[in-house]
Amino acid sequence: MDDSSNPRIDGEALHQDTIAIRAGRGSNGASLAPPIWATAVWEQPSLAEGRRMSVGARAPGFYSRYANPTVNAFEQAIAELEGAEAAMAYGSGMGAISSVLFALCSPGDHVVCQRQIYAGTQLLLQGPAARMGIETTWVEAGEPGAFAAAVRRGKTVLVIAETPANPSLALVDLDELGAIKGPFTMVDSTFGTPVLQQPIRHGVDLVVHSATKAISGHNDATLGVVAGEKELIDDIWRYSVLHGATASPYDAHNGLRGIRTLAVRQERASATAATLAEALLKHPMVRSVNYPGLDSHPQYELCRRQMRSGGTMLSFDIAGGREGARRFVESVQLARLASSLGGPETLVTSPPNTTHVGLTEEELEAAGIPSGLIRVSIGLEHPHDLIRDFEQALGCSEVTG
Ligand code: PLP
Repeated sequence: MDDSSNPRIDGEALHQDTIAIRAGRGSNGASLAPPIWATAVWEQPSLAEGRRMSVGARAPGFYSRYANPTVNAFEQAIAELEGAEAAMAYGSGMGAISSVLFALCSPGDHVVCQRQIYAGTQLLLQGPAARMGIETTWVEAGEPGAFAAAVRRGKTVLVIAETPANPSLALVDLDELGAIKGPFTMVDSTFGTPVLQQPIRHGVDLVVHSATKAISGHNDATLGVVAGEKELIDDIWRYSVLHGATASPYDAHNGLRGIRTLAVRQERASATAATLAEALLKHPMVRSVNYPGLDSHPQYELCRRQMRSGGTMLSFDIAGGREGARRFVESVQLARLASSLGGPETLVTSPPNTTHVGLTEEELEAAGIPSGLIRVSIGLEHPHDLIRDFEQALGCSEVTG
């Protein structure tokens, strides 16, 4: 990573919070906000120069599917925050994940992935990837040594982890993952964000984010990103430029704006999440709470080791299964019923009834998703108001008769 723009003060490196304020400003000139390069194409100075640009990786000033300065500024900011040499942005998180998968894997190759993973990634591996002859072995996220044990020497090309996992909040040991030699390792760090954890600093090769979520942070962008070594990102770019899941400069601009306040938003929402998790734990309608920042959580020690806080996401199992969950999500008054996360509004959803509706009961169970599971993305409301809202909605959720 070129962090020459990040000075050391009295020899001390800057904190993530400070890097987030400075990152990705390389081509701003004197403007504090990044300019939006709303252009698809640039005029070429000569035919020879145009030919050079069309064959080189990520040539600037050529065509926006190849590179765009606003998108590049966002990519540079993510690389700086993740401690990576380079990053590449996409039109969505799935654009990033599918581009990495198909850039690196060919028919006959083998992938290792955890069972507890975002449903879109699972469906990608089970559907299009399997159809193209890419085989996946599924492992348990929290089981020590599970990823390494599933690697087939000379056959496994990619190991995919997601930590904390959506929606079970299971954690993966990043040191263990980073120690795997041979295949590329990739972590979906959407729930972690670059301010709570930096997988590359643990030896992982690639980190991906749905930047649609906390990084953009205001529900106004659809954006994805992958970061890693420059040579690897350039290789991934060669496929991505043909795949075409290109990031818009408008969304990249919103991504950069989100990065400036990411640390304070994460700090506030993490504190609220911890308070809400404690309150839910005591409620008779709640069977269990998944929040790695709770000291009763089985992976609490791992959370302390690799995350700055327990994060801004939690899930809980409500009594009454799917019906109890339906009543709850339709009874909240402050929180909103919506299938996203990482914005200023607290959002609730019932994965078994929505995003994971395509999974069988056995697959749900294997993924650690009980039928009464409710996923919560903590927003920036006052914690007291939020707890009162959850308590009244839990009161409305009791299934009688
Ligand atoms: N990864 C995780 C952990 C997610 O939660 C999501 C979406 O919810 C994605 C990836 C996909 O992101 P996008 O919707 O930006 O494609």
